[in-house]
Amino acid sequence: MVAYKSKVVERIELPSRERRERALAEAGYNVFELASEDVFIDLLTDSGTGAMSDAQWAALMRGDESYAGSRSFERLESAVREVMGFSRVVPTHQGRGAENVLYGALLSEGDVVPNNTHFDTTRAHVANQGAEPVDCPVEGARDPTADGPFKGNVSLERARAVVDDVGAERVPLVIQTITNNSAAGQPVSVENTRRVREFADEIDATFVIDACRFAENAGFVRRREGEFEGYEIAEIAREQLGYADAVVMSGKKDGLVNAGGFVTTDDDDLFERCKQRAILYEGFPTYGGMAGRDVAAMAVGLREAVTEAYVTDRLEEVRKFATLLSDAGVPVYTPPGGHAVYIDAGAALPHLEPAEFPGQALVCELYREGGVRGVELGSFAFPDTDRPELVRLAVPRRTYHAEHFEHVAETAATVLENPESIDGLEVVSDPSMPELRHFTASLEPLSS
Ligand SMILES: *Cc1c(COP(=O)(O)O)cnc(C)c1O
Repeated sequence: MVAYKSKVVERIELPSRERRERALAEAGYNVFELASEDVFIDLLTDSGTGAMSDAQWAALMRGDESYAGSRSFERLESAVREVMGFSRVVPTHQGRGAENVLYGALLSEGDVVPNNTHFDTTRAHVANQGAEPVDCPVEGARDPTADGPFKGNVSLERARAVVDDVGAERVPLVIQTITNNSAAGQPVSVENTRRVREFADEIDATFVIDACRFAENAGFVRRREGEFEGYEIAEIAREQLGYADAVVMSGKKDGLVNAGGFVTTDDDDLFERCKQRAILYEGFPTYGGMAGRDVAAMAVGLREAVTEAYVTDRLEEVRKFATLLSDAGVPVYTPPGGHAVYIDAGAALPHLEPAEFPGQALVCELYREGGVRGVELGSFAFPDTDRPELVRLAVPRRTYHAEHFEHVAETAATVLENPESIDGLEVVSDPSMPELRHFTASLEPLSS
């Protein structure tokens, strides 16, 4: 049963088919170029796109905009201490700001960093320090049909192989991303977190958890990791995060706000180093690039994120959406993860080669048919890697209702009634940075 009722609403509209056709062509068949007004159901990302609660809106009004020593920052510190268990907090404008602050304090040229899977901005910030990011996902993490309760785990075998290869002195940092965003939002077990802690101790490395979706992860742990059956979400979250030396967080995910982030730790020395970098890049360390009111709303959001009602509702919403799609005959990544449902476009459109971008073709058809915006995470977004051809339909928090998800499932089913009629695409204009091409490149249907 949904745990919310609406107090504020925003009108949305399905543009006419002609307008959708025109908008898609004008966007160069790249949905990042669509105006949000031309989109009916926007599943581009779950990052900062959710709805705040009435308690968060109330906290906004009481935000303290003082440059230093703000009361809102004290609220955030106490929320972080209670929810995550750490005493030192450095706020930042969003998650990547926290990554810049923390990884800049921990890494130097030539270092090597194992992680279950580096999220795009994590990879970029590790590389920006002259270090090498190495993904260590478990077997099957990229396989849309493999079964498994914790496909997001770190492979300790792979992480150990990295150390054997380059030597422990070049591995000062190990990261675990919960849930594993770039592996279809798959969860990570607490047992795996413990083993990463032991591994970090063995090689004398700092252990950082990227906790963007720590509350969703705790929900999966309770359902799937026997030891934690009957535990409260808040207890599981504290237990899991408690193994880390530091946590890096984007408030736009399980902080339940539209912007914000932070680093937190109990290590006073690391805290001091992060603080200095925060002053340089983010702002004075009691606001860190956020308005005081946004700090206040994030403090409330963090507490809400670990409530039973929130987490149960969230996991159910995503699970039901995945079921709607698979019942409609749409091949989806299984088991579904925490923040999105992924369509296996390679399976849905087998007549298209990777070079014809089956995922992007499907993204375009979902928009053309139903005004639905998803995002391609396959050959178009990641040239030169052998990833599955996935289309991510991310679910903004507390935003859409059952009828919206039904509309998306019906749209996908209609699109896939005649899969062979769907054309591939080619890139006609490329930006200068290949790793960012899916944000701005233009395409054209191969038939045109
Ligand atoms: C979103 C995200 C980030 C970066 O956070 P932003 O707020 O988008 O800057 C880092 N790591 C993971 C796993 C994320 O999902």
